[in-house]
Amino acid sequence: DIVYLNGQFLPLAEAKVSPLDRGFLFADGVYEVIPVYSRQTFRLDEHLRRLQASLDGIRLANPLSTAQWQARVREMIGHSPFDDAQIYLQVTRGADDKRDHAFPTGVAPTVFMFASPLVTPDENLRRLGVGAVTAVDNRWLRCDLKTLALLANVLLRQQAVDHGCAETILVRDGFVTEGSASNLFLVKNGVLVTPPKSHLMLPGVTYDVVLDLAVRHGVPTEVREILADELLDADELWMTSSTKEVLAITRLDGRLVGHGEGAGKPGPLGEQMWRWYQQFKNDVMRAGRD
Ligand code: PMP
Repeated sequence: DIVYLNGQFLPLAEAKVSPLDRGFLFADGVYEVIPVYSRQTFRLDEHLRRLQASLDGIRLANPLSTAQWQARVREMIGHSPFDDAQIYLQVTRGADDKRDHAFPTGVAPTVFMFASPLVTPDENLRRLGVGAVTAVDNRWLRCDLKTLALLANVLLRQQAVDHGCAETILVRDGFVTEGSASNLFLVKNGVLVTPPKSHLMLPGVTYDVVLDLAVRHGVPTEVREILADELLDADELWMTSSTKEVLAITRLDGRLVGHGEGAGKPGPLGEQMWRWYQQFKNDVMRAGRD
């Protein structure tokens, strides 16, 4: 198990971080998860742009240039035994010699990266869809930043697991924001609806791809706020993320999503979007453009 830590690739067992690291003490850092298919990254530049936005948001200078990130991610893939992988990378504000909330001076950031297998939903899971629960979004007001401070997301996701479900859909002031680790799409009368980007949700790389594919294939889209009440009235609900891709939510708070024959089953637009997504991925990979 080779990982990257502060400029070096080394065995996991030899990778040491100080317990005074601000990532450990304060969750003072940001991260990204980049999907790799057949040893090629997908949407790497988009992920690196979002990393920059997250770093800007917490006022931490990017320790590496885009070219350096690209090279290190490529090298990480070379060390990984997995053809399909997810590259996790994180940057923290480093380890000071004391615990003080205020930014330290003269401390180097900690940069960490490792690869693990990418397991996207298999055919069986896609045929069934997954269950979700709703919960009040009790996170902070900078959900647009991909920070290490994931305790709220952890507790919210566990609510889903406690109910035998896969995801928790978050509701703030009566409006749907996103999932605990995914973005949310709804289909109603053939129109694809998703909330607008704001400080209340993560700007998903997959969200952008899905919206783009919808527009490109002539699917009517509406980017607007979604009332929680609209969820159970929807024809289809999907969660999207780099690791789940496009996955139907077929049960919500113990009730079936959708109507009539289609109730509780993944809908046709979601299945179509999944195919478009695979096709786009394959086209990008074949062209070696990512
Ligand atoms: N929202 C949250 C809170 C997430 O953690 C994720 C997963 N990174 C997403 C949305 C989806 O983002 P992406 O499509 O870039 O993976």
